[in-house]
Amino acid sequence: MTSTAFEPTPRTTVRRRPQRGVYDWAEVHAILDEAVFCHVGFVVDGQPVVLPTIHARIGDQLYVHGSVASNMLRSLRAGVAVCITVTLLDGLVLARSAFHHSLNYRSAVIFGAARDVTGDELMRALDAVVEHVVPGRTADARPPSPDELKQTTVLAVALDEASAKVRTDPPLDDEADYERPVWAGVLPLHLAPAAPVPDPRLPAGTPVPSYVTAWSRQPSL
Ligand SMILES: Cc1cc2nc3c(=O)[nH]c(=O)nc-3n(C[C@H](O)[C@H](O)[C@H](O)COP(=O)(O)OP(=O)(O)OC[C@H]3O[C@@H](n4cnc5c(N)ncnc54)[C@H](O)[C@@H]3O)c2cc1C
Repeated sequence: MTSTAFEPTPRTTVRRRPQRGVYDWAEVHAILDEAVFCHVGFVVDGQPVVLPTIHARIGDQLYVHGSVASNMLRSLRAGVAVCITVTLLDGLVLARSAFHHSLNYRSAVIFGAARDVTGDELMRALDAVVEHVVPGRTADARPPSPDELKQTTVLAVALDEASAKVRTDPPLDDEADYERPVWAGVLPLHLAPAAPVPDPRLPAGTPVPSYVTAWSRQPSL
């Protein structure tokens, strides 16, 4: 298999618990693809702002989209530095001591700058955003009209400076605490759908598509 490992930069080097740092594009991409949305951090007039946004990845490009009126997208479009993070919560880690309680997680941090996306790439990116959230949906959803496209900004951030950090361990208690008669372990968590709720205006009998009933965010095991 081709290695996708990369060297961290000074700002992507995980210093706290460095053994949890992962510098591998396959891992970073998998975390980005599983996360439904990301958080976009940037500075406007000296004020740090972090906003949640849907993203989508095609190859080594990460796309975000929104209204042309969006302050966030207008700021990013101007070329300001951006830091994008995603976090997948995999479990609650219950240790014997309060101090050693933790979370199991997979997270990724990306540094870069955004560029404007136009033309065919814009259409591909918008499809990718829909497919990222609900794989299979573009086959059924009406594509954007020219007027809707005029109201939409799409930006891309190249995935070339990133890190992943992953915790998968059981609790790591102090040796003396292992004899305590208290339950310890991991409560695994994952994002799972509940029963679909049809739109009140949906004609009766409209079948629920399989991409809805089978929607899953868990990585293939
Ligand atoms: C899960 C999720 C996914 C989203 N996906 C998208 C997307 O794909 N595209 C998109 O354009 N928008 C998305 N949004 C909305 C997005 O977070 C912003 O609200 C929106 O983009 C407007 O940005 P703005 O810079 O114009 O906000 P402004 O309205 O200019 O922000 C002004 C202030 O409003 C507050 N504010 C803005 N947004 C939020 C927020 N989400 N939560 C709490 N306070 C807020 C903050 O204090 C901010 O400083 C998403 C939100 C969530 C929660």
